Amino acid sequence: GDFTLKQVREYVWELPQEDDMRVPGRVLASETLLEEITDDKSLQQLRDTTHLPGIQKYAIAMPDAHQGYGFPVGGVAGLDAENGCISPGAVGYDINCGVRMLKTNLKYDEIKGHEAELVNSLFANVPTGLGGGAVVDNAPVEEILERGVQWAVEEGYGVESDLAHCEDEGFRPEADPAKVSQKAKDRGRNQAGSLGSGNHFLEVQRVTDIYHDDVAREFGLSDDQIVVLIHCGSRGFGHQVCTDYLREIEQTHQGLLDELPSKELAAAPAGSQLAEDYYGAMCAAINFAWTNRQLITHQTRQVFERVFDRPWEEMEMELLYDVSHNIAKREVHDVDGEDKELFVHRKGATRAFPAGRQELPPAYRDVGQPVIIPGSMGAGSYVLRGGENSLSETFGSTAHGAGRLMSRTQAKNEYWGEDVMDDLREDNEIYVKAESGATVAEEAPGVYKDVDEVVAVSDALGIGDTVARTYPVCNIKG
Ligand code: 5GP
Ligand code: MN
Ligand code: MN
Repeated sequence: GDFTLKQVREYVWELPQEDDMRVPGRVLASETLLEEITDDKSLQQLRDTTHLPGIQKYAIAMPDAHQGYGFPVGGVAGLDAENGCISPGAVGYDINCGVRMLKTNLKYDEIKGHEAELVNSLFANVPTGLGGGAVVDNAPVEEILERGVQWAVEEGYGVESDLAHCEDEGFRPEADPAKVSQKAKDRGRNQAGSLGSGNHFLEVQRVTDIYHDDVAREFGLSDDQIVVLIHCGSRGFGHQVCTDYLREIEQTHQGLLDELPSKELAAAPAGSQLAEDYYGAMCAAINFAWTNRQLITHQTRQVFERVFDRPWEEMEMELLYDVSHNIAKREVHDVDGEDKELFVHRKGATRAFPAGRQELPPAYRDVGQPVIIPGSMGAGSYVLRGGENSLSETFGSTAHGAGRLMSRTQAKNEYWGEDVMDDLREDNEIYVKAESGATVAEEAPGVYKDVDEVVAVSDALGIGDTVARTYPVCNIKG
């Protein structure tokens, strides 16, 4: 399309409001990142999004934005929770896909020489791949949907302090399992505690840079420390919930759909039965995803116990934080000087609340929340803290990754999985183990944008401040 962007200031670009747009669009990017964003359908999708009823201020594309289903991955929209709507396509299929960081008190030199054993043991004990099994067979889905990580902790898959180190304490009380189809529950029953395939991963990393000593200390991060990043979502369960509700919303709210420029943005008006039902089902999927990451955490702790021959508590394998990057949430934000309840949609975007927000757990209320931004299996990843400007600029959000540069099909033409693994191992001492070579090709470091640049934009805008950088040691994938 023809998109004339107006520069507002450094790193801030406006898609001016015209025709039936309800608000302008905004892209937060450097010139290089903007060029990459302009290369696919992201801007068209951003413009489409501005047509959603009840959208406030502007539709926002983060520096890592790329095209998604209807709504860009790396997109944020605040929709009036009273007079607006809620849109499953603006949450994404993998409801509550997210990342958590598990800390340790091990240093890099303590695990050097153990990488092969560690990666093999993780791969053997964390279910991966499309089929792949699960940590819990025939899981009590209803309870997981209702209680999330609380269920996991009660069953011995975690400890109390894990709860306080998850967004929303690891569970959304609004979850309503009755609003979830049997088909979704059947898909979830045998996937509780499984990484899945493709972009999801478990990566052991070492801290290589500290940019902000005080905050790093508060977060318990230091140079050369070993940490573990776990990235996965709600598996077939969330996908089914999204599919079910997209179909129902398209049928029931045809009138609203006819007014929207894209069928993929199908939305349920705030206050409608379907808006309530979808919210309840989405919260159930959110609880499922948190439980999934918790079960994988449990396996990870056990693997470390065996490989390093001591209890995980002794290795201080505590959660830094678990952040969601595919959700909608009722949140109160200031809009033109007035507090308004919004459905904040973050798809491929991370909450980045600064100090002071009441939603933050006590550990982070005075410093701001940790934000985790993975790069790729061959590049750095980052820990940020929620920035002061996020509330006024992005409804309290920042990026969620480097963002894809090329499609999976394109990636498989460019790369060969075995070669990618050999190169990582020989040139960078990174050990990768995957269910399939194709996955490694699809996820090769070269398919992602420059995470350093994404994070630099976030930091410069003050929406998420850079705290620390990590580098891969070993990685398992589906
Ligand atoms: P998404 O949730 O959009 O699939 O992925 C989030 C981000 O994770 C991607 O934008 C990419 O930057 C990052 N990523 C993908 N694979 C890996 C990996 O194996 N290791 C790390 N550290 N980051 C990855
Ligand atoms: Mn996902
Ligand atoms: Mn994700």
